[in-house]
Amino acid sequence: MMKPAKKSPASKGSSPRSDATAKAAAIVRKGERFLVATHVNPDGDALGSALALAAGLHRSGKSVTVYNADPVPYYLKFLPGSGAVTSRLLPSDRFDAVFVVDCSELARVGKAFLSRLEDFGISVVLDHHARGKRDGDVRCVDAKAAASGVVVHRLLERLGVALTKQIAVNLYVTLATDTGWFRYGNTSAGVLRLAARLVEAGAEPDRISRALQESSPPARLKLLARVLDSLELYEGGTIGLVALTRAMLKETGGTIEMTDDFVEFPRSVASVEAAALLRETPDGWRVSLRSKEAIDVGAVATGLEGGGHIRAAGFTMKGDLATVRARTVAALADALRKSPVYKRKTAC
Ligand code: 5GP
Ligand code: MN
Repeated sequence: MMKPAKKSPASKGSSPRSDATAKAAAIVRKGERFLVATHVNPDGDALGSALALAAGLHRSGKSVTVYNADPVPYYLKFLPGSGAVTSRLLPSDRFDAVFVVDCSELARVGKAFLSRLEDFGISVVLDHHARGKRDGDVRCVDAKAAASGVVVHRLLERLGVALTKQIAVNLYVTLATDTGWFRYGNTSAGVLRLAARLVEAGAEPDRISRALQESSPPARLKLLARVLDSLELYEGGTIGLVALTRAMLKETGGTIEMTDDFVEFPRSVASVEAAALLRETPDGWRVSLRSKEAIDVGAVATGLEGGGHIRAAGFTMKGDLATVRARTVAALADALRKSPVYKRKTAC
């Protein structure tokens, strides 16, 4: 009697994930001119993914434009290729396809981009957000991937693109950013193996760490002092919240991009389960949420018209500070009260 066929590694070859990767690879092979875009307020995963993909497409002999609605933050300017990122879309720009990376929905790339979408050919989404609209003609979305860089790496492998130093540095930054320097729960053996390959290909962990973490302008520390001083604790110390006002930026001469990681500080308080950073912008308050283990802040942010992951998420809300703070705290407190982990912790 024949044994039932074992699942061979080859059977993975026809999973929806690899089908999408194969489709994306076919689009690359067929086309000549590509646009690579990512979300507003780009972080290391967004720009690292975009620049690694652009470098890979370039090596395949294609012409590539990398677009972001916002300027490259100062701490990501060392990324190889970042000097070519443009915030301008020319009326004459036409592409065979657009690759949108690290973006749960196309709207997060910005209004100027959305209004031109039909000029940009077929759209391919390369992402790792579990939620969001299912935008894009081809979707290479793996919610289990630690960073969008992992999804980009998969496509480059499929295309047979060798890991150059330029690609390796950019991909290493995607992993370092989204795993919190290989500390968070998404730091798997697979992530560490990929990181090792990137180091072999020329990524230097010490130099990348210094470039990302020791490039602060003095104004950043002045801002940090103000923001830390704004710490408020709620719900028996389980919610930690800090706020950055436009007045603080003016007083210190700092800029909002200097504060991208400030939400880590309220999270570092022992009793805090959920942390929030509220930042005043001309478009409203940009809220960053982080959690330790009790709640899914991605769900909280989605309920407030934002998005993100279980442990890191965000949304934008209009209104005065008191209102935005109250709504943020209420949403987090509600999620905490419903959390079995939280109940278990407070019971002992
Ligand atoms: P951060 O707090 O670092 O800006 O964002 C944390 C995570 O939440 C990232 O994955 C980011 O893409 C997502 N995120 C932040 N703000 C928003 C938002 O307004 N809408 C959506 N859909 N996602 C957001
Ligand atoms: Mn990401």
